[in-house]
Amino acid sequence: MNSNDCNSTERKGKVWLVGAGPGDIGLLTLKGRDVLGKAEVVVYDALIRGGVMSLVPADAELVYVGKRAGKHTMKQDDINRLLLGKALEGKRVVRLKGGDPFVFGRGGEELELLKENNVECEVVPGVTSAFAAPAYAGIPVTHRGLSTGVSVITGHRRDNGSLDIDFQAYARTGNTLVFLMGMSTLDIIMKGLLEAGMPGDTPAAIIEKGTTASQRVLVTDLAHIKQTAEYEHATAPAVIVVGQTAKLREDFGWHEMLPLSGIRAVVTRPKELSSGLASMLRVKGAEVIEVPVIEIEPVSGSSRLEKAIEDLQNGMYRWIVFTSPSGVRVFFDELMKTADIRALASCRVAALGKGTEAALAGRGLKADMLPTVFDGRTLGEELSGLLQPGDRVLIPRAAIGNKELVSELAKAGDVIIDDIATYDTVYRKADWFDAGTILPEPDTYALFTSASGVRGFVNAYPEMDHSTVRAVCIGPMTASEAEKHGMKVWTSEEATLASLTECLERAAKEQKNEWKH
Ligand code: SAH
Repeated sequence: MNSNDCNSTERKGKVWLVGAGPGDIGLLTLKGRDVLGKAEVVVYDALIRGGVMSLVPADAELVYVGKRAGKHTMKQDDINRLLLGKALEGKRVVRLKGGDPFVFGRGGEELELLKENNVECEVVPGVTSAFAAPAYAGIPVTHRGLSTGVSVITGHRRDNGSLDIDFQAYARTGNTLVFLMGMSTLDIIMKGLLEAGMPGDTPAAIIEKGTTASQRVLVTDLAHIKQTAEYEHATAPAVIVVGQTAKLREDFGWHEMLPLSGIRAVVTRPKELSSGLASMLRVKGAEVIEVPVIEIEPVSGSSRLEKAIEDLQNGMYRWIVFTSPSGVRVFFDELMKTADIRALASCRVAALGKGTEAALAGRGLKADMLPTVFDGRTLGEELSGLLQPGDRVLIPRAAIGNKELVSELAKAGDVIIDDIATYDTVYRKADWFDAGTILPEPDTYALFTSASGVRGFVNAYPEMDHSTVRAVCIGPMTASEAEKHGMKVWTSEEATLASLTECLERAAKEQKNEWKH
């Protein structure tokens, strides 16, 4: 019987060696995503800094074993022992590695100790940077008529300092040569290949931080590769491609054509809301890092809400007002405990914003009114004009809801407004996200879809200099909160995700022009 079966007394842990791909989260495999989503411990290093980490469950233990400013990487033996220790504690452990775990990833070494101790292991292959970085640069690693094979070679020195590459042999193959970890030994690689008889005009390319927003591609030839790297200050991580196919970039380069290529967008919405915006941005070529800074926590056992649902079923409300998609979700979760959608049969529905309207549509409800401008005050003003004396209005929404909505509605006179807190907005922090390093980087933007999101962000990362944050905000309320903290702000024309995405494009264009001057 398998020791993972439920009637076994002791739960045995398991380790998954998962390839995270080269950077773009879209290159993580479906299996990798599933495994990561169920992890209890995640052991990761420097190459994993972006989107993939947002898939880790909030309560998983994170162990960073990569280089940190001033500190060194954890020794391989210590990593091996760490994985073993966590597995023996009975945990589901994911060892997350850049690219593919078996391509210069020391994956095999990590498995040895686990196997010796009879710990169950699985390997989830990943998309290696050796192939993905050239692909994102528009360089096929093989091509009919130009190269019949590809060699992936490490440029890492051995412990004794030497580079053990048989350049003669590789030069003879006529293969496309892809070097990983070769930036610090670039001159040895270049000389080795030239001495082995490879022509100096063989096309070559360096792809730095491939598949991320910081991807940079330098095309040159073998004789000038070192010079080009120095002149352009090329740095690791980068792959080096030597071979005839490198020149195909001129024809096949594609990533730079996408409207948001080169742009890194940090999406701060609550987790359950962020995927729609994230995928809109990714389709346009942005690198998206999802860093939820607020979470929606339903108020449990609210007697006011229970009473309101009862009254709703008795047809006592004339209007119900929803102010956010989260408000819709939380209200319907509560409603479905005792009733169903028919409870709303006799009342009209108002929605603040397109996202809210869409959330209602997803539950089979068409909103009867949307304000002309998506803010609480306008909704209050416009809805109050529709109210009749004696009308009752139900507003199930966040505890910290906008006050003007109610005060404007109250101007209608003889009406009863039940403003009921159905959820709290709680702040949270993603420990893996190094805001102070990532946000000030060029072409990096934080996207905010609510003022509470801005507050949550500032609360999570109080130490960083907030004036370095380029904030793309969904509306004037969000923008004014971001301005309060000294951020550089762009505001979308409409309070919709499509308009927010356009606003990011505009911001990126403006900044690029500014930097040019
Ligand atoms: N297992 C990894 C390789 C680990 S060795 C894989 O399959 O991709 C680390 C080297 O990988 C780096 O020195 C660099 O040469 C390469 N590398 C990793 N990520 C990269 C990226 N996004 N762009 C370019 N090179 C990358």
